[in-house]
Amino acid sequence: GDEVVLVGRSNVGKSTLMRELTGHSFDTGGKPGVTRQPNHYDWAGQDFMFTDLPGFGFMSGVDEQQREQIKTDVVRYVEDNADDILAGVLVVDGKAVIDIIDRHRENGDIPHDVEMFHFLQDVGVDPIVAVNKMDKVDDRDERLNDLCDRLGLFPPWQQYRETICPITAKTGSIGPLEEALGQRFREAKREEL
Ligand code: GDP
Repeated sequence: GDEVVLVGRSNVGKSTLMRELTGHSFDTGGKPGVTRQPNHYDWAGQDFMFTDLPGFGFMSGVDEQQREQIKTDVVRYVEDNADDILAGVLVVDGKAVIDIIDRHRENGDIPHDVEMFHFLQDVGVDPIVAVNKMDKVDDRDERLNDLCDRLGLFPPWQQYRETICPITAKTGSIGPLEEALGQRFREAKREEL
């Protein structure tokens, strides 16, 4: 498989990241509640494909039922295409993700990001977590260790450089993600031989 899917809550910076990865600028979603279709792009002249899936979770002006439908669509897309998907990039907001996860847990809900991480593992699409907006994070190591903990990975986060990628999409600082993806591509190529 040579497809990379980007999933994540709305407003985490998926469109911004997509633009950095592909060099294409595109409409960032339009009206709330309108389910975005998967968008396909090529990467750096290679025949890989990036698919930006609709954002899930809270969006103002979008009701519960529509939110559930969007999540169902995302899950179905990944399930249907799992054989072709090389990597599932779960994009999170590094500044907000821990608070959001913990708030959901306190309310007895399963946090979407944690659910999505395990879902990707379950369907055999090894997740890469793009921890975005790191420019807003002061206590970088602590925050990334907390994220590992919430995802069921034992800290320290530095053990998981192929999974946990701190980035700032807005300024184009996405090196750790490009390295993790590059690694994944090389592994896939080797398996093809
Ligand atoms: P999407 O809904 O996930 O596609 O998110 P967007 O790409 O539309 O970004 C949502 C907001 O986050 C916008 O205001 C972006 O400028 C901002 N944003 C995206 N990436 C970063 C980042 O790395 N740092 C900061 N501080 N803001 C960012």
